[in-house]
Amino acid sequence: MAVYKHCPMCAAELVSFNDNGIKRSHCPRCGFIHYNNPAPAAGCVVFQDGKLLWVQRAHEPKLGYWTIPAGFCEWEENPAETAVRELKEETNLDVKITGVFRIYNGNDDPRTNAILILYFADVVGGELKASDDASRAEFLGLHESPENIAFESHKQALHDLRTHYPEKFKVDAN
Ligand SMILES: [Zn+2]
Repeated sequence: MAVYKHCPMCAAELVSFNDNGIKRSHCPRCGFIHYNNPAPAAGCVVFQDGKLLWVQRAHEPKLGYWTIPAGFCEWEENPAETAVRELKEETNLDVKITGVFRIYNGNDDPRTNAILILYFADVVGGELKASDDASRAEFLGLHESPENIAFESHKQALHDLRTHYPEKFKVDAN
């Protein structure tokens, strides 16, 4: 959990207090309260020919580990916009969101706890090319799924996809 020592508003020393059972800190000078909420993040579950789109992380934390393409929401950004933007940045693919898949909370990213919103999306343009935060971007079949998945929420998403949407991993015979 991120711990601020000083008030980000006035630089006075923060004091911790018990807020109905939740430990928070506040500023005795200006009244600022550090709520320490999780950060919202969003990403796209994209299937093509029975394979799921994965990216390999180009930066720490979890350098070299794989994730479903996702990233943190910018201020005032709709999570759906975040998901489409991050996918373009990391894979160069243009996608259209078709629905919400699931929402997870992630508590194993050293930067911050997160709420991860994953959408289903279809490719509508662009050519697959890893860039920005991704060193590789690949569509992988179920049995090629990466073993080194960066975060528990993404591992859970794969588990939920294979459990509840097994047909998406199969190539349509027609
Ligand atoms: Zn203050």
